Amino acid sequence: MSDLLANLNPPQLQAVTLPPVHGLILAGAGSGKTRVLTTRIAWLMSTGQVGPHGILAVTFTNKAAKEMTARLSSLVPINTRGMWIGTFHGLCNRLLRAHYREAGLPQTFQILDTADQLAMVKRLLKNLNLDDEKYPPRELCHFINAHKEQGVRAAQAEAYDHYTQKRVDFYAEYENQCNREGVVDFAELLLRCYELLQRNEPLRQHYQERFRYILVDEFQDTNKLQYAWLQLLAGGGAKVFAVGDDDQSIYAFRGAEVGNMRDFERDYAGNNIIRLEQNYRSHGNILAAANALIKNNRERLGKNLWTDAGEGEPIRAFEGYSDLDEARFIVEEIRELVREGVSPTQIALLYRSNAQSRVLENELFTKNVPYKVYGGLRFFERQEIKHALAYLRLLGNPDDDTAFLRVVNFPTRGIGARSLENLQATAHQMNSSLYNAAASLTGKAGQTVGAFIRLIESLRQETEGLPLPEMVEHIIEKSGLAQHYRTEKEGQDRLENLDELINAAATFIDDEGAIGEGGALVSFLTLASLEAGEHQAGEGQEAVQLMSVHAAKGLEFDVVFITGLEQGLFPHENSVNQGRDGLEEERRLMYVAVTRARQRLYVTCAQTRMLHGQTRYCVPSSFLEEIPENLLKKLNKKAESAVPAFGSFGGGYAETVQGGLRIGMTVEHAKFGVGVIVSTEGRGGDARVQVNFGGSGMKWLALEYAKLTPV
Ligand code: ATP
Ligand code: MG
Repeated sequence: MSDLLANLNPPQLQAVTLPPVHGLILAGAGSGKTRVLTTRIAWLMSTGQVGPHGILAVTFTNKAAKEMTARLSSLVPINTRGMWIGTFHGLCNRLLRAHYREAGLPQTFQILDTADQLAMVKRLLKNLNLDDEKYPPRELCHFINAHKEQGVRAAQAEAYDHYTQKRVDFYAEYENQCNREGVVDFAELLLRCYELLQRNEPLRQHYQERFRYILVDEFQDTNKLQYAWLQLLAGGGAKVFAVGDDDQSIYAFRGAEVGNMRDFERDYAGNNIIRLEQNYRSHGNILAAANALIKNNRERLGKNLWTDAGEGEPIRAFEGYSDLDEARFIVEEIRELVREGVSPTQIALLYRSNAQSRVLENELFTKNVPYKVYGGLRFFERQEIKHALAYLRLLGNPDDDTAFLRVVNFPTRGIGARSLENLQATAHQMNSSLYNAAASLTGKAGQTVGAFIRLIESLRQETEGLPLPEMVEHIIEKSGLAQHYRTEKEGQDRLENLDELINAAATFIDDEGAIGEGGALVSFLTLASLEAGEHQAGEGQEAVQLMSVHAAKGLEFDVVFITGLEQGLFPHENSVNQGRDGLEEERRLMYVAVTRARQRLYVTCAQTRMLHGQTRYCVPSSFLEEIPENLLKKLNKKAESAVPAFGSFGGGYAETVQGGLRIGMTVEHAKFGVGVIVSTEGRGGDARVQVNFGGSGMKWLALEYAKLTPV
C-alpha cells in the first residue's frame, strides 16, 4: 500500500486519501488528475473501505475506461469485474440493458449513432411532408439532442413561435418513431436512464445503496443531464469525487456546462477542494506557452501550473508555403525522430478539423510511415460494416426501421424508391414498423419486399444458436454482401473490412465478461454503436497517431505536432463568429493541444491550403502570436531572409529558379498584381519565390502552382 502512495506529491496524497467526503480536484493539464482518481479507487479498495461492487467511475472515452481498468488490476489484486467503469453512455446502456422492461425498451434495443439519427430524421421529414430546407435535418438533430440534454421531452418543450412549435411537434414524432422501432439515440441513453432512476424508487434505492463512491474524470465537460444523473445516484449517501480543469472545457457546443464545476463546489464539495499545481507531463517551455495562451481567457477559475522538469527544447514553429509543404516538413521530421529512436506511438499529429488529415495521411502513406487515424471514418462507421451490422440488427429486432431501410435493397433486389415510399406510408398509417407493414404490400412491391422479409427470416433460423463469429460470417455470405463486394471494382478493401468484422466478433467473445443482458449479438452491436463515436486503438503495429484536438483530450505524447494553425481553421471560423465565448473555447482547445506534449512541440501552418476543393490563402493563427517569442524556434525565417531552413530544401538555391525568374525581377500574378521577387528557395517541385506585391503584401509562392509572368 505504501507503494501505492509512494510517488504522490502532498496535495495528490491528500486527494487520494480524502476521508469519505465529496471532493473536487480542480487542476490544470498534466497535474495528475486522472492518476489521482485511479489511485484513489485502488486505495479505497486496498484499505477495505469499499469493494469493487461499490465503485462507479466515469471516464471520457471507452478507451480511457479500459486503461483505467487495466491500471487498477495492476495496482490491486482485486477482480475488477464488479466495478462499473465507463463513459456516461456506456454506464447508462449497462443499466438500461439490465432493466430494459422497467425502462420500456425491447430487450434487444439498438443504439442509433449520429449518422443513424440523421438518417432517421431525414426519413421522418419526408413522411411528414416537411421541407428539409426550412427544417435542416442536422439542426433538427441538434434541437432534439439539446432538449434531451436539458432533460426536456417533447411534451414539456416550450415554443414561443410557430417555427419552434413545428420543431417541437417534429421532436414528438421522432420520439414516437424511436419508441416504435425500439431504438435509442446517444442522448436518449442518458435521459432514459435518468428518468428510469427518478421514476422507479426501488431501483434507485438499489443503486444508491450499491455505489458508495462515485468518481468522475473530465468533470468540466459534463452537461446538465449528466450532472443530474450523478446527483440522483449520489442521493443515498455516496461520496462523489470529481476531477476537472475549467481551462480544458471544450464541449460547450454539445451542451457541456463548465458551470457544473461551480455548482458542484456549492452543492457538494464545500471546503474539500484540492488544487494540484505541479505539472508532471511537459517540459518548461511547453508549459510556459500553455500558460501564456490561456492567460488571455477571461472566464477562468484561475490556476497556476509549474514544473521542475527544466525548460527543455524550444517550441518549433514552421510555416509552409502550402499544406503539402507543411505535410512534407512534418513527415520528414517524423522520419528523423524515428531514426533517432522515438517510438512512432509517441508522436501525435493534431488538427482542428478531421478534413485536414487527408493531406497528412497522403504524405505519410507515400513515405511509408505507418500511421493510425483516430476519429474520422472509423471502422464501425464504414459503409460495408454498417450494412453487415444492419442485417444483424434486423435479426435481433425486426422493428428497427433504420436497419431495414439500409439493407432492404442492398445488395439490390429490384425494390424501387416508389415501393419503399408506399411501404413507409403504409407503416405510418398502421403505426407499425416497416417490417410488419411489408405483409400488406401487394403487387410487385409485395413480392420483392416479401422476398427480403423471407431472407431475414431464413437468416434468423440458420444462425440460431451459432457462435457470434460464425453468425457474422454467415450473414455476410448469405445476405449477398460478400458477393456484391466481390464484383465491385474497389470491393477488396471492403471485403477485408468485413473479414475484420468477423475477427472483431471473435475477439469480442474472447474478452472476458463482455456478454451482457440480451446475449452476445446485442452486446456486440452495442459495442459497435458506442465505439462508432470513438477511435479504434491499433493492435500490434507501431504507428504515428493522427487525431483531432478534441479526441486528444486526456492523452499525452512525447512529440506533438499542432498543424494548420491558421486564422479561420484554428481558431475555427464558426467559433470566431460566435464572438468572445467562441474564441475562448477555441483557445481552451489550443491549450488542450499544447499540453498533450511531453518533450517536443511543433506548431505548424501553411500559407495556402486546399480546403473543400478550393485554394485558400491563409494568415497564421492569432494563437501563434500569443506564444511568447522567446519560447519559439522558427525553423524557416522566410519573412525575414531567404536562407533556406532545411537541408532538404537547401544546397543550391540558385539565383535563377525556374523559367528564368531571378531576384529583383518584376513579375505579375493574376490575383496579387505586380510585384518584385525578393528571394528564392528550393529547386524543382519545391522551388518558390518571395514576392513583394506592395499593397497586397509580401508572399511566398510555389512556382509549381503560382503562375508568374515577367513584366
Ligand atoms: P489532463 O488534464 O491532460 O487529463 P491529468 O491532470 O489527468 O492531465 P495525468 O494524465 O493523470 O494528468 O498525469 C500526467 C502525467 O504525469 C502522467 O504521465 C502521470 O503518470 C504523471 N504523474 C502524475 N503525478 C505524478 C507524480 N506525483 N510523480 C510522477 N509522475 C506523475
Ligand atoms: Mg486526465
